[in-house]
Order: sequence, then structure tokens, then C-alpha cells
Amino acid sequence: MKTKQIGSILVHQVVEFENLALAASSIFMDCQPEMLARGREWLDPRFIARDSDDIYLGFHSFVIQSGGRNILVDTCHGNDKRRDGNFAYYNELHTDYLGNLARHGLKPEDIDIVLCTHLHFDHVGWNTKLENGRWVPTFPNARYLMSKVDFDHFGRVAPDSHEAMHLPSYHDSVLPVVEAGQVDFVAMDRTGDHDLGPNLWLEAAPGHTLGSIVLHARNEAGGALFSGDVWHHPLQFAEPSLSIFVEQDVAMGAATRRRLIEGCADTNTLLMAAHFPSPTAGRVVSHGDGFRFQFADD
Ligand SMILES: [Zn+2]
Repeated sequence: MKTKQIGSILVHQVVEFENLALAASSIFMDCQPEMLARGREWLDPRFIARDSDDIYLGFHSFVIQSGGRNILVDTCHGNDKRRDGNFAYYNELHTDYLGNLARHGLKPEDIDIVLCTHLHFDHVGWNTKLENGRWVPTFPNARYLMSKVDFDHFGRVAPDSHEAMHLPSYHDSVLPVVEAGQVDFVAMDRTGDHDLGPNLWLEAAPGHTLGSIVLHARNEAGGALFSGDVWHHPLQFAEPSLSIFVEQDVAMGAATRRRLIEGCADTNTLLMAAHFPSPTAGRVVSHGDGFRFQFADD
């Protein structure tokens, strides 16, 4: 997509990296081979391998330019961050993320608001950067919006918990922006308290984490849904029982997914999902009893 225009709203995609191939059964619970076979019949080849059970994910942010403000949605993994365990694929990355931001004509100083849809490691990383051995806010003029529920939760995660993979990012990518006084916490029942300008609003979308938030954009020209990790892959539109392993509340996540899918299916709403590979933006269309996804024309 690179950039999409919805009337007066511009949306830029800032890529961190693309085309991470993962075995579907390694990220989805109860992923059956026949689900993948059915998916291969309609999914764009940019989403699924033909000759293995791999699926493809991308990692990117979106910058919304609207009402004179620049709003950055999700901040990927970040550079220089030491990670280990199962997720070593992003250990000490050195990507050109800020260069990709610059190619949209934007400097870190230009970002007014950073929204973290939830506080998993791949959505908070560029909140901070390494400077003289310290983690400092990457976006010095931004207010960072994040859910209080997630902040409290990840502050209590034990080192031996199955969620411990999110502890290093909590310490090097979340706490430093809180300590810098740049965070406005979002309460799940008061998402309307945060003014993002005309045509943009937050909505609570709990399940993947109990503090997950999505962002809506709508004007006379159309709409967009910045859906974070409510879904990871469009196979979940056709196979509603598919949930990712790290879902905090599987039933709540499925209900949130269903509600948001039904809200945008067969409309002009562009889906801006956190992990769909390029060209990323697309639409949900109903198909029989279920739903499918189509990339928007680039
Ligand atoms: Zn994610």
C-alpha cells in the first residue's frame, strides 16, 4: 500500500520487515491441515505457502495524517533490543525503520501521537531507541497512548510465565516512555476520553490481550480499521475457531474478532492489520457463512 488516501486522511505504511515465514501450527492453536488446504484455495499467495504449512507475516507501523496531526500506530520490534528464547528472530535488529519513516517525509520529531494497540513486544519496540547506553523515547514530541489494563498486567508478569517473552520489551520499550512522562493511559471503558481529532476514535477490543485497543477512521470518503492483533492472518476470517497461542482470553478474542469482522465486511472500510504482508490494506467480504479478505488495489 505504501500510502492510502481516504478523503482528507492519509495513511502511510512504515515497514520494519516483511515475509516472516512461520509454520501455521506453531502460532495457531488447533490448526488442522484441512484448514490450510481450504485457505490455499482462496488466499493470495503472499499469505500462504503452496508447498508447506508456512504462512507469511509482515511487521510495520501505520502513520495517519489527519487534522494536522501525525499519529503512529504500533511500533514493531525496535533496533538493538536484546531478545532470546523462541523469538530470537528479532534479537538485536538493525532495520532501516526510521529511514522508511523518512521516505514518507517524516522525522521522529513530527510524530504527535503514538498508539500501542497492546503491549506485546512487536508493538512497542520503536517506542524507544538506544542513546548513550540508555533507552530514550524515539518520538520526543509525542504523547504515547497505551492501555492501563495491559500496562498493569505486564508489570506483574512473572519471569517463569508463558508471557515472559514480553518482559524485556516492557522494561526497555514501555517503562522508559512512562518515566519520561509521555504516556496517557487509556481506560477500556473510557476510550472516548482521547481526542485524536475529527474522524478518528478508539475502541476497546479485548481478548488477544485484555487491554487491546483498535482505532477507527471514517469520513465521507470511506473508512479504515487499525486492528492491531485482533487477527494475525486472513485465514482467521474463514476459520473463526483459529486463535493464536498467546491469546489471553480465547473466547473473548473470538467474540471481538467476530464483532469487528461483521462491522466492516462488505463495506468500504480498509483493514489495516498489524501483520498482513504488503500490500497489507484490503477489505473483508462475506462468502457463504464466513468471510474472506482481498487486498485493495494498489
Ligand atoms: Zn503482533
